[in-house]
Amino acid sequence: MGRRLGVMGGTFDPIHFGHLVTAEEALAQFELDEVVFIPTGQPWMKEHPVAAPGEDRYLMTVIATASNPRFSVSRLEVEREGSTYTVDTLRALAAERPDAELFFVTGADAMLEILHWKDPEEVLSLAHFIAATRPGYDIAVFEAGAPAQNARVSVMSIPALAISSTDIRRRVKGGRPIRYLVPEGVKSYIEKAGLYR
Ligand code: ATP
Ligand code: MG
Repeated sequence: MGRRLGVMGGTFDPIHFGHLVTAEEALAQFELDEVVFIPTGQPWMKEHPVAAPGEDRYLMTVIATASNPRFSVSRLEVEREGSTYTVDTLRALAAERPDAELFFVTGADAMLEILHWKDPEEVLSLAHFIAATRPGYDIAVFEAGAPAQNARVSVMSIPALAISSTDIRRRVKGGRPIRYLVPEGVKSYIEKAGLYR
């Protein structure tokens, strides 16, 4: 039987406990064998540019996931020039891991953007989609708007964590605490590299 491979995409600018809880819940609820985190290269569907260089975002993701034997991090997107589209990444993963069944894990907000992604039909043919509930975003909006795609999209309830990278960057800039919002090692890395000041 093929491996059930979770794919967690994001800018991870920086990675925080909301991302980690989402991936862990996907592992458990969808009986995945592993989850690969894929930090984006260039910003993807972002109204604001990424704040930290790809290499720093990649390293913070490695630090945050290191203790979980089922989590890994891919350099696929950080090593690519220009914007990366989900469809290209899923295609590359499908070619690299022909045995794997892909499960793309996103928060409710990212799922709401799915219709605006490049080649939405091909995207949906390459993977199952797991949309995690996220405070402040209404998953019902997506469900009502895209009935044809619901077959490949599952909604996943997770413990609500109103944590965002945007808020963490603002906190660092304002000298406010980020302890308990990100793993200790990520907090140390942000301080050491002088990110988000
Ligand atoms: P930013 O504020 O910079 O957009 P973010 O916190 O939304 O950062 P991303 O890197 O954009 O983090 O998110 C990657 C993926 O993780 C997205 O699919 C997003 O929906 C999901 N996600 C992020 N934070 C949470 C959270 N607290 N609960 C559930 N899903 C989340
Ligand atoms: Mg986001």
